[in-house]
Amino acid sequence: MVNMGKNTPLNICNTVVQPGENLTLGLPTPEMYGCVRMHVPVHIFHGRREGPVLLVCSALHGDEVNGISIIHKLLNLRLLKGLQGTLIAIPVVNVFGLLSQSRYLPDRRDLNGSFPGAESGNYTERMAHTLTKEIIAHATHIIDIHSGEPGVKKLSQVETLLSDEKAHEMARMFGAPIMLDNPECDTGMLWNLQGENPKPTLVFNGGGANQLDEMTVKTGLKGIVRVMKGLGMLGFRKEGERKTPEPMRVESKAWLKTPKSGLCHFHKRIGGFVKKGEVVAEIYDPFGPAAQSVVTADREGVIIAKYEMPLVTEGDGIVAVGTVSQAHLVSSASKAWEEDSQGASELE
Ligand SMILES: [Zn+2]
Repeated sequence: MVNMGKNTPLNICNTVVQPGENLTLGLPTPEMYGCVRMHVPVHIFHGRREGPVLLVCSALHGDEVNGISIIHKLLNLRLLKGLQGTLIAIPVVNVFGLLSQSRYLPDRRDLNGSFPGAESGNYTERMAHTLTKEIIAHATHIIDIHSGEPGVKKLSQVETLLSDEKAHEMARMFGAPIMLDNPECDTGMLWNLQGENPKPTLVFNGGGANQLDEMTVKTGLKGIVRVMKGLGMLGFRKEGERKTPEPMRVESKAWLKTPKSGLCHFHKRIGGFVKKGEVVAEIYDPFGPAAQSVVTADREGVIIAKYEMPLVTEGDGIVAVGTVSQAHLVSSASKAWEEDSQGASELE
């Protein structure tokens, strides 16, 4: 571990947090009608020694719960006792959305894409502004956790601007099966990679909305701990610790659309490899037994997301195929991810 100096007090959300102190603060949400003002619980672990300030947040969309479980498990790790630097963890950014089982804020807008927000804007812009000013301003690194939108399951993946050296390195440290380039920085907290002082930021995405997926939780937790170790926040990796699997780099993705409506039978699993021309799914008329139509791959690549609802409508995207530059490595990469998912040494 790099020997760094003593940490200094952190002034956040109108509270001074001393080095070595752990506490939970409530960040007030903007005012709305009704008599109850909501607060976003913010957990802060402020290490005795200085180091990076990592913000880990989830449920920016109120129906995405995998990240909540990831953060709960992270906050319970004994490893945090030796923390160097600061961890700011927000399990539920969109408290209103979680309570109402909605992706959106009370004004039915999407917080995603509303950053950095505006002090005098609409409700969602005000919320984004509050988070930017009170929380994000303190962070040096960010991990924002998401899941697939309703009806869509995603293979565990990190998304970032891969041309940003520090963000790319963070994505490799995470070791998710897929590393996806997002040159537009147009999802979640990736906007922090734009401007004059970009903050290394990852969006981790896995599983689906309204689902708690144990494998996604495991991959997400391990990835965050690996990033924290890589940044020197949790000490060295141990002797004999499992090697971080090399993520498969996905350059672009495209959804394969169904030409017919009906019951969808998939021939391929999420994370599987498809060749151009291969049958990915069959679509059956729900009122008759004959196969109606097939969906074939128009490119080769890895299935990185899948539509989960059994009935599909003509023109729906049913699987997302990610184009990988080193297709011949897919099977060995898959094996490494499966082996990695069995081990838990990083968490000790
Ligand atoms: Zn989301």
